[in-house]
Amino acid sequence: MEYEVVIGLEIHAELATKSKIYCGCTTEFGGEPNTHCCPGCMGMPGALPVLNKAVVEYAIKAGLATNCEISHYSRQDRKHYFYPDLAKAYQISQCDFPICRNGFLEINVNGDKKKIGITRIHIEEDAGKLIHDESGRGTFVDYNRSGVPLIEIVTEPDMRSSAEVKAFFEKLKAILEYTAVSDCKMQEGSLRADINLSVRPKGQSEFGVRTEMKNLNSIRAIVRAVEGEARRQILELEYGGIIEQETRRWDDIKGESYSMRTKEEATDYRYMPDPDLAPVYVEQAWIDEIRATIPELPDDRKNRFINEFGIPEYDASLITASKPLADFFEAAAKESENVKAVSNWIMGDLMKKLNDTGLEPSDIPFAPGNLSKLISLIDENVISGKIAKQVFEHMWDTGEDPADIVEKKGLKVVTDTEAIRSVVIKVISANPKSVEDYKSGKTKAMGFLIGQIMRETKGKADPQAVNRLLKAELDEL
Ligand code: ADP
Ligand code: MG
Ligand code: ZN
Repeated sequence: MEYEVVIGLEIHAELATKSKIYCGCTTEFGGEPNTHCCPGCMGMPGALPVLNKAVVEYAIKAGLATNCEISHYSRQDRKHYFYPDLAKAYQISQCDFPICRNGFLEINVNGDKKKIGITRIHIEEDAGKLIHDESGRGTFVDYNRSGVPLIEIVTEPDMRSSAEVKAFFEKLKAILEYTAVSDCKMQEGSLRADINLSVRPKGQSEFGVRTEMKNLNSIRAIVRAVEGEARRQILELEYGGIIEQETRRWDDIKGESYSMRTKEEATDYRYMPDPDLAPVYVEQAWIDEIRATIPELPDDRKNRFINEFGIPEYDASLITASKPLADFFEAAAKESENVKAVSNWIMGDLMKKLNDTGLEPSDIPFAPGNLSKLISLIDENVISGKIAKQVFEHMWDTGEDPADIVEKKGLKVVTDTEAIRSVVIKVISANPKSVEDYKSGKTKAMGFLIGQIMRETKGKADPQAVNRLLKAELDEL
């Protein structure tokens, strides 16, 4: 039987506000445990919350950038559950009156455009963190993260494949980055996704029973979790089993999900309006003011890059998916005569390097102008494409100007005919067997000799000159 996979996401993003949602403590990541805290963050009796206006502003901004309606009236509710990292034994969230509703994002998977509905965006507070001591002294709790503001973005069950999930998630991430609503650093937990997934026989109109996998914190893990869980559910149904509504944990190392709790064990959160916090009234004038601060978003920037710089849509989509990468490209392209080469270097060597090092585009250790300079060095035949890769490595390690690196390391292309000719003669006399092969018609031998010459010159000889001179010398023998 053929199955269709149905996916809805609940995405938590830490907001980039300076202070927490209900007190003045810093939201800065890390720090010695329990140093970014006050009695409020630690749930002390009598400590009262005061809503940070910037949190509402950022949530509205996220809503406007994702085509949501903004509520003029919203409310904060207590969501009760006990966990040691939740000092008050309830989390302040929003239940029936979230700040934003009914939005959507358009995604494009291999040319197929599709709208993914956003049910709601609400504000809430993050919890603290448990630290399980490795030497077995017990478990400690760090409340630094407690009270860091979050938005939760809930989508409609509109996605049908891991490719759609990836496209949606990347687009949302780019928008949150562009609007500076969140720094979106997934490795620091600033952006994480819960995946709700069900399968159904193709053609069936009712949804199947769904499971939920919580707190996925890399795009790779999200994709793998969607594919792994879909496979598990289909297999279960194929063998006559049933899918239980439950929360599962995705183990990305094993590539499997495990049951955590079933519906019967699900908590009843006993939501109630928080009596310490007044409802939030938002006037249209403020919404309009916030709308005016929204910068150029990824799709508009993509179209501008295509028109302004003449790069292909594929390049423009990839590069504008990350704001810092798009900024880097734009700065480099403005200083370059060869914009397509800038985009090729970014999509090739640069992205590979970011991947290998696990760094973010905002951490690129050299100036965009240096990439443009590197490209002109190649285009002006000062260095070869192969040597350019070495220079790139040095630029990455030192941030130095590529022209200085080439100078200091003596990497310039050798075009001096006499210098090349002397190496050619040396290589010819050292390899009589290959010369004989060449003479007897085995033209492959030429390639071997060129290789030897390039090795002698550490890849710096101008390949065209090498070819010409070698052929001339051989033909004279
Ligand atoms: P709850 O209130 O229990 O969290 P919701 O109805 O709000 O449940 O849905 C939570 C998430 O699950 C949403 O992202 C929604 O799109 C998704 N979802 C709901 N039903 C299904 C289903 N049958 N298959 C996949 N996803 C679903
Ligand atoms: Mg939910
Ligand atoms: Zn505090």
